[in-house]
Amino acid sequence: MALNAILSFNVTDLFLRYVEIDTQSDPESDSFPSTAKQKNLGNLLVKELLAIGVADAHIDEYGYVYATIPANTNKANVPVICFCSHMDTSPDCSGENVKPIIHKNYQGQDLILPDDATQILKLNEHPDLKNQIGNDIITASGTTLLGADNKAGVAEIMDACYHLINHPEIKHGDIRILFTPDEEIGRGVDKVDIKKLGAYAGYTIDGESAGNMENETFSADGAKLIIHGISSHPGFAKGKMESAIKIASEIVAALPLNLSPEGTSGMQGFVHPVGISGHVEEATIDFIVRDFEDGKLKEHERIIRGIADEVLKKYPNSSRTFEIKPQYRNMKEVLDKHPQIVEYGMEAIKRTGLQAKLCSIRGGTDGSRLSFMGLPCPNIFAGEHAFHGKQEWVSVQDMQKAVETILHLCMIWEEKA
Ligand SMILES: [Zn+2]
Repeated sequence: MALNAILSFNVTDLFLRYVEIDTQSDPESDSFPSTAKQKNLGNLLVKELLAIGVADAHIDEYGYVYATIPANTNKANVPVICFCSHMDTSPDCSGENVKPIIHKNYQGQDLILPDDATQILKLNEHPDLKNQIGNDIITASGTTLLGADNKAGVAEIMDACYHLINHPEIKHGDIRILFTPDEEIGRGVDKVDIKKLGAYAGYTIDGESAGNMENETFSADGAKLIIHGISSHPGFAKGKMESAIKIASEIVAALPLNLSPEGTSGMQGFVHPVGISGHVEEATIDFIVRDFEDGKLKEHERIIRGIADEVLKKYPNSSRTFEIKPQYRNMKEVLDKHPQIVEYGMEAIKRTGLQAKLCSIRGGTDGSRLSFMGLPCPNIFAGEHAFHGKQEWVSVQDMQKAVETILHLCMIWEEKA
């Protein structure tokens, strides 16, 4: 029997099927993908795509799934558009034995997760729930994350594929599908084959609230500050020892609150020590540095160096080195050169009846790196909320709106060509 005869292809059933497959990625792993189990979902997606008639669907050695819905329009100049979601879930919370629960016709009540009664979704702690009255909310059961980040996006793209295949009256150009592994550990596009994709524009379907589209991400650097202190026998250290551990601690303590993650929001950037290690002679502080403007990244890095040098004045025989490693850049710089990519995205959202809202994201997406690799790629809502934790949720109705948005985008690119 054909797979499409036995498996249901509406977005909810797809989603429920995918979240039960554990695809947690692992930052400690050197392999690619970081965990082999991510391919279990990749293989299922390929099988399903082939079953519905997407003939070129395949998974490569790194776990990327590629597929194409061939153009059905007479117009020759419709750009190739790519839709992208990631298959892995966050290492921050277990993704094993996810038991999704549908809370039908939500009326604002507390949602108590049955496998751990201390996990309760309250309206005042999840303010976006106020827009979900009457909707069907999907959560996990209390001991795991749900995996809506980003299996909601995967399911939405799959439902849209199925719809396109079954509705040839919807005219579109070549539609490329990309499912990536290891996004949550920052390696989501390391092995992607941009040439093979051959797309003019991409959309990641990995955003939060229905109607939102993100055209800005942080620009991001990693920085490593190494303190070289002076070690000596502690019994005979008077006037000699300059402990790198203590110097590093003073530097961390001197970081300003108004430049920290816990003291900033909106469009403000920050510097954030994410690791500290060392001994008397040498200590290392690892930082992440974030801002929406590249120029401000440099300023923040100067501030770290300035604080270090100020502290070091008290330690004349110690020194420091400071290394910066660029991580990703604000995709707006690329998207501004191709304004119709965001315009069409906003138009597609409006056509679903939602209010379209352009936002920035205090983080990075696969799209921020794809944009600089030659595939301009804003981020569209998938409906995922409270991700990376046990209270993660998504609503059926938001997922359906995301499917509609994808379909409208396919039509708009054809229509405007
Ligand atoms: Zn995500």
